[in-house]
Amino acid sequence: NVNVSFTGDTRVLTVSNQKGGVGKTTSAVNIAAALAQLGAKVLVIDLDPQGNASTALGVTHTADTPSIYDVLINDLPFEEIVQQSPESPNLAAAPSTIHLAGAEIELVSQVAREFRLRRSLETYLSTHPTDVVIIDCPPSLGLLTINAFTAASEVFIPIQCEYYALEGLSQLLGSIQMIQKHLNPELHLSTILLTMYDGRTRLAQQVADEVRTHFPQQVLDTVIPRSVRVSEAPSFGQTVITYDGTSAGAVAYREAAVEIARRATRDEAAQENQKKEN
Ligand code: ADP
Ligand code: MG
Repeated sequence: NVNVSFTGDTRVLTVSNQKGGVGKTTSAVNIAAALAQLGAKVLVIDLDPQGNASTALGVTHTADTPSIYDVLINDLPFEEIVQQSPESPNLAAAPSTIHLAGAEIELVSQVAREFRLRRSLETYLSTHPTDVVIIDCPPSLGLLTINAFTAASEVFIPIQCEYYALEGLSQLLGSIQMIQKHLNPELHLSTILLTMYDGRTRLAQQVADEVRTHFPQQVLDTVIPRSVRVSEAPSFGQTVITYDGTSAGAVAYREAAVEIARRATRDEAAQENQKKEN
């Protein structure tokens, strides 16, 4: 029996890692679907030109679909691109299309280029109450990811338990620090999720131990196992939560979602205590 409640402010998490293939999109959509199942109102923003999150959530993202590109570049109101995901009545998605591939360069000449996502999202959230926003980032640290970093307060890093898992992590942490200092003081690394874990290998265990030693507060207890069902789900336009809800991958993603939901309460309690002490 899970007892999680969603009250108060919208949490905005950005799923980031400049490495590709580490489980960003898979984690973004499955955590989103699991949170929606727990009763949260969830919005996923697909900020990757590949559009994998849009595919997995079963929303239209053909070239002529109004998308996050139009929000960032053409000032289209955010609410005009949001689609309901067939996954759950609680789950909405802002799709990406192939046009987004050009946005990295087109953004350079835009006014307030680092804050375009934040501004339009804020307007949308003021009229569309949402508990959790999850942004799926491309595998780079360019202007799209910077837009995610200024729109979010929490960074969620998926780490694949294999060789070179920690390579590039210090660059990512450096970027987060830089954004924190210059553009968004609220931004912090809140969550690390170990993905594609194969407990039979010593290497996976070593990587997991090393990450937990470096980030004891941030790493979720739950690890996501490597599972064929997880990788099959997107080809059916589904998350694994819907595709095979009893599979090991679905169970793990639901547990991770519960941890994430509970952590909000923990963080709020910690902040309250801090206030009392000061
Ligand atoms: P990223 O968004 O970081 O590029 P993806 O989420 O697209 O990474 O995952 C990369 C590949 O690994 C995809 O083919 C995906 O289906 C697969 N994958 C992700 N997580 C798992 C898992 N737990 N078990 C098996 N395959 C997985
Ligand atoms: Mg991806």
